[in-house]
Amino acid sequence: MAAQSVREWTGIQKFPAATQTKLLELLGKLKQEHVDSLTILVLGKGGVGKSSTVNSVIGESVVAVSAFQSEVSRPVMVSRTRAGFTLNIIDTPGLVEGGYVNDRAIDMIKGFLLDKTIDVLLYVDRLDSYRMDTLDKQIIKAITDSFGKGIWDRAAIVLTHAQFSPPDRLSYEDFFGRRSESFLNVVRSGAGIKKQDTLASSMPVVLVENSVRCNKNDDGEKILPSGVSWIPNLVKTIIDVVSNGSKGILVDKKLIEGPNPNERFKMWIPLIVLAQYFLVIKPIQGKIKKDISKEKKAPWELRDLVAAKRRV
Ligand code: GDP
Ligand code: MG
Repeated sequence: MAAQSVREWTGIQKFPAATQTKLLELLGKLKQEHVDSLTILVLGKGGVGKSSTVNSVIGESVVAVSAFQSEVSRPVMVSRTRAGFTLNIIDTPGLVEGGYVNDRAIDMIKGFLLDKTIDVLLYVDRLDSYRMDTLDKQIIKAITDSFGKGIWDRAAIVLTHAQFSPPDRLSYEDFFGRRSESFLNVVRSGAGIKKQDTLASSMPVVLVENSVRCNKNDDGEKILPSGVSWIPNLVKTIIDVVSNGSKGILVDKKLIEGPNPNERFKMWIPLIVLAQYFLVIKPIQGKIKKDISKEKKAPWELRDLVAAKRRV
């Protein structure tokens, strides 16, 4: 890993004053909760706007952005400090290669994350995509198999290209609602999230517009079609996720090298079967045997027995 020294978060000063005020307020809230650093993992397919989103949040062009191919071939962690708070944001290569889940990229990301704690996962895709397919579900499954289902308690879905006009006279809100719902369904089924997994099943979906043509409000802040200033809104969502009562994901050797965290319970199956044999089946067998030996023979059974003995 090209260890980047932790630099002052100077990009924040380039934001419009209104955005700066909101961000500093949010960081102040984190400080009150004694959170002095956050590590954010950014995952998604190639070309969806992961690197652009990292640059937008940091306020500098720190990672390469490319329209034609993903330029980041390995994970990169960008760290910035501001007022005693450290933000670590990890940009990653796309998770799809040649139409399949890129297992090599996933292994590389796991290796990179060793001994780090993921506070928040931002799973990025584009708002202006119309359908989800089995590949999307496979990506979600691969992430779940690597980091455990708990990662989705710590996740937010980020949809880029938010400044987009929905087709077929659909209203923006309707389109966003439908896109979010179909996305969440794929995440739920790919990750095996059930309705009772309340945190993961109510994962937030946030909009992002990285384009230089992003609309601005009178204060010069980049806004969504709804008028919301999106950078503070994204940061606020991240903080909400961190404060939802779930635990960050420590990526240790056990998680990386051990069995699939979601199937770890399978190791216990032989032991459970053995325990069942000794604790349940054997005592029952013993009881049955005892019962049989104690059982009184019916008179006709005895008569038959005596008759059989006589015949011998
Ligand atoms: P990555 O492969 O996921 O890291 O995607 P990049 O950040 O490299 O972006 C891929 C292309 O999409 C680049 O040409 C970006 O300029 C463009 N892009 C990224 N996010 C947005 C967005 O929110 N709106 C628009 N219009 N373009 C975007
Ligand atoms: Mg990239």
